[in-house]
Formats: sequence, C-alpha cells, structure tokens
Amino acid sequence: MNENLQIRTFKKTGHIEVICGSMFSGKTEELIRRIRRAEIAKQRVKVFKPKIDNRYSEFEIVSHNEQSYPSEVVNDADEILEKSFDVEVIGIDEAQFFENNLVGICQQMADSGKRVIVAGLDQDYKSLPFEPMPQLLAVAEYISKTLAVCVVCGAPANRTQRITDSGEKILVGAKNHYEARCRLHHVINSESEKQ
Ligand code: ADP
Ligand code: MG
Repeated sequence: MNENLQIRTFKKTGHIEVICGSMFSGKTEELIRRIRRAEIAKQRVKVFKPKIDNRYSEFEIVSHNEQSYPSEVVNDADEILEKSFDVEVIGIDEAQFFENNLVGICQQMADSGKRVIVAGLDQDYKSLPFEPMPQLLAVAEYISKTLAVCVVCGAPANRTQRITDSGEKILVGAKNHYEARCRLHHVINSESEKQ
C-alpha cells in the first residue's frame, strides 16, 4: 500500500467543539448529552472542571436541572493534558475559569486525534467576552450557542444578569446571584460596572 495512503487510513483526526452561551442556557446539559452518547459508543471519556467551580459537587458536573456526570477537578489546563493521554473524548465545563493556555492545550489534544468538547460562558455579567472563550471559538471546528429564557420577558436570552451587588468579575453562584436576560432586559447596574 502507498505510504501516504496508509497514514491517511490510520491517523485519526481530532477536533474541538465549543458550547457557549449565558448562564442557564443548557451548556452543561448539552455537554452531558454529548459525553453520554460517546460513552454509549464505547469511547473512553473524561470530564474536567476547574477547581473554582465547587457549587454543587467536587466529583461531578451538575446542570441547573440536576443532571450530573462524574468529573475531575483540576487546578489548571496542564493537568487536563496530563490526565488525558489515554482518553478519546474530553469534556471541559466552565472553561471561562481557565487561563488562556487552555486554548493551546485543547489544540494539542485535538491535533493528537482527540475529540475535545468545551463548554463555557461566552460573556461575563457585563456582557463582555469572557476569555479564553473567544480564542477557543476562533479555533474550534464546531460551535453551538445555547440560549436561555429571559426571566423578564421570555425572549431568547444570551446574557447573564448579576442580581447581587458585586464588582468582582468572578462571583461563583447560580440563582442566588444570577438571572438569564435578553439584550433588552440586561442592565449594567453601577457606573463602575460600565465599560
Ligand atoms: P448552563 O450550564 O448553561 O448554566 P445548565 O445546563 O446547567 O445551564 O441548565 C439548563 C437548565 O436550567 C434548563 O434545562 C432549565 O431546566 C434550567 N433553567 C433555569 N432557569 C432558566 C432560564 N431562565 N432559561 C432556561 N433554562 C433555565
Ligand atoms: Mg453549566
């Protein structure tokens, strides 16, 4: 057999899929759905989340409608690479809480033939791009934007309203701190929160 053809036949192509949107838009739900299907196909899967996301469980990713899937907490993106050498499908939740080196690490894993599924907030509570999601969106093969329901008017919502008074970019929480809002009903509360 021609040598080039052999390489084409045996080397598996990986890719990056990004699931992004506001809080409550179904990112974790969708990540769990894809991971469960990969498991049904008997692929080796592993799911990771950053240490900061300790809202519901240390050992699982949990969606707001109480679906869950086992996950490992990691301190940084390098740890994902170290723990994924024998894995075919990698799920990463709350990707916006990782440093920018997550992008290179996802690329490296996809280059080596793995399917990398990354879920995260594309905007922060001020509606500004939440790094490193923009960079991941630029290099991903597949992008899904999920939308929530605006709690004010019921329109499709792509923004996250912070309902408690805090100027911190990162304030981990769910319904106690945040609501899904459409662009019309999303408000920046104080002068200090404006761009
Ligand atoms: P995300 O990971 O994007 O924050 P989840 O997958 O954890 O979202 O949760 C999605 C679930 O959140 C929905 O299936 C629904 O049951 C619930 N939910 C609560 N509030 C809303 C809302 N305003 N719009 C849509 N879904 C909501
Ligand atoms: Mg989530």
